[in-house]
Amino acid sequence: MSRFWSPLVHRLTPYIPGEQPKLDKLIKLNTNESPYPPSPQAIAAIRGELANDGNGLRLYPDPEADHLKWAIAAHFSRFAIEPGQVFVGNGSDEVLAHAFMALLQHDQPVLFPDITYSFYPVYCALYGIAHRTLPLGDDFCLNVADYRPANGGIVIANPNAPTGRLLPLASIERLLAANPDSVVVVDEAYVDFGGETAIALVGAHANLLVVQTLSKSRALAGLRVGYAIGQHELIAGLARVKNSFNSYPLDRLAIVGAVAALADEEHFTWTRQAVMRSRAVLAEALGELAFEVVPSAANFIFARHPAHDAATLAAELRQRGIVVRHFALARIAQYLRITIGTDEQCAMLVDALREILQRQA
Ligand SMILES: *Cc1c(COP(=O)(O)O)cnc(C)c1O
Repeated sequence: MSRFWSPLVHRLTPYIPGEQPKLDKLIKLNTNESPYPPSPQAIAAIRGELANDGNGLRLYPDPEADHLKWAIAAHFSRFAIEPGQVFVGNGSDEVLAHAFMALLQHDQPVLFPDITYSFYPVYCALYGIAHRTLPLGDDFCLNVADYRPANGGIVIANPNAPTGRLLPLASIERLLAANPDSVVVVDEAYVDFGGETAIALVGAHANLLVVQTLSKSRALAGLRVGYAIGQHELIAGLARVKNSFNSYPLDRLAIVGAVAALADEEHFTWTRQAVMRSRAVLAEALGELAFEVVPSAANFIFARHPAHDAATLAAELRQRGIVVRHFALARIAQYLRITIGTDEQCAMLVDALREILQRQA
């Protein structure tokens, strides 16, 4: 608390990111980063940008990052996406922040599920947007028929975080059709691990904004690149906020690295398939330890043990050098969210859990 803070700052409850431990030796399964390196082509492109002793960094980057917008549009050419239907930002968190301000700040409350990405209520508080949460079903499934109340917008993560549950495209289509006067933001941070992107619906639905990131499936969380795809009108709204906030959200290294990463289809396919294979193996192993595992279409697993407290399990894993995420929140306080690591990391996690469960028994 400080007398120098504005009233708004006094009222904020900022988002708390997962720990980035300073110790190197920890097995880090807490923030859904990729266990694999990014595309070597992305790294080569970043090196290239640093040629001539980094002389290019004297100059500002392209404020519109047009090269990257073209690359994203080309990547989704199967859905006839044009560069003018693409918005890019400093990670999808920034893209989402701009979406809340540009498209969701209306008289009626924004709707989102009770269990979802915990940044959404934080943006609402920052921008003074009222929100109303709608409870997911007992199995964490989202029922689109619940999204009837008058609203100033709807936000869903699909696959959802931290549950990993996937909503089929047909349900999203019904949500869009039932709320034609509201923007529906679909946050697809995890869609590459088993989902079907709603970008397919952008052409037919003026109220749809799809947000994706290079942080998870492209292994570039450290580069900070996210984007949104929607019809021109929505993109123009985002651009107005961005150009009132920061003209250069993406630096030169991020732009060239992202363009190269998107072009490396082979590396992308290999890493996401490796994660999906490991997820199946880990889900099975956790099941054998009597964990209840929520079906996941993401690069993490959400699970609880009927006989062991989740916070205690997380603390015991931490003592063994393994970090997983635990949310002390209603409904999910007995769950652990475990990022899919390499097969070796997953095996070490399972061994540690087996030992902990035996000891506590
Ligand atoms: C990780 C994550 C993001 C943020 O990703 P960045 O692009 O790294 O900012 C957004 N939404 C959800 C649901 C996420 O899990």
